[in-house]
Amino acid sequence: MAILLFFTGHWYLSLFGQTFYLHRYAAHKMFTMSPFWEKFWYIYSWVTQGSSYLNARAYAILHRMHHAYSDTEKDPHTPHFFKEVFSMMWHTRKVYNGVLHGTAEVEEKFLKGYPTYPAVDRIADSWMSRLFFAGLYIAFYVVFAQYWWMYLLLPVHFLMGPVHGAIVNWAGHKYGYRNFNEKDQSKNTLIFDFLMLGELFQNNHHHAGARPNFAAKWWEIDPVYPIIKLMNRIGIIKLVPIKSTGR
Ligand SMILES: [Zn+2]
Ligand SMILES: [Zn+2]
Repeated sequence: MAILLFFTGHWYLSLFGQTFYLHRYAAHKMFTMSPFWEKFWYIYSWVTQGSSYLNARAYAILHRMHHAYSDTEKDPHTPHFFKEVFSMMWHTRKVYNGVLHGTAEVEEKFLKGYPTYPAVDRIADSWMSRLFFAGLYIAFYVVFAQYWWMYLLLPVHFLMGPVHGAIVNWAGHKYGYRNFNEKDQSKNTLIFDFLMLGELFQNNHHHAGARPNFAAKWWEIDPVYPIIKLMNRIGIIKLVPIKSTGR
């Protein structure tokens, strides 16, 4: 029971940081927030991603490349050039590291407009922090795991951020239905996306990249959108008005 709670908690808290902060805020600027909240969510994404911490600037740049070159050779993570998901993940890792360490050339149009917090990165992106979090996950399992097979879940904790990315990028451009005839291979994999918090509405999202609600039809559910609306109402964020809304 404790393991199930820990796994589910880690899954959703980390995924929320990715979809709300890294994706919808850092990469797409769907809403604005004060410097305080920007720092708050930056630290939140470090703590919840823990050992698999992803830098917001590199995430935003990679993601903007994904939209600009979706399912072509310049896309950092299309499933259509790889036989299985691990080689796609490895390729994405190479592009990510190149952008993060400044060894890859980044087009001007992808730069600017993402949060940076070098003081946090110095710790969050260090081996010390990654090993500390990995040690915490292991300690939790040592204390609470009742069966040996539960330890098989540990690699998911270690790689939580990239695991979420791989599921979305692989399934969301390969399996499901399409509402819009986009040039890429994007699909909507689920109609009620509680598993990936709306991220699996890839076809809807590629059609209208600035729209904070990833659901497009009345029968589709993006569970993060009501939370975004609530945060907008209570003043944590401010939604950026978009044309042709349908909000
Ligand atoms: Zn996509
Ligand atoms: Zn996007």
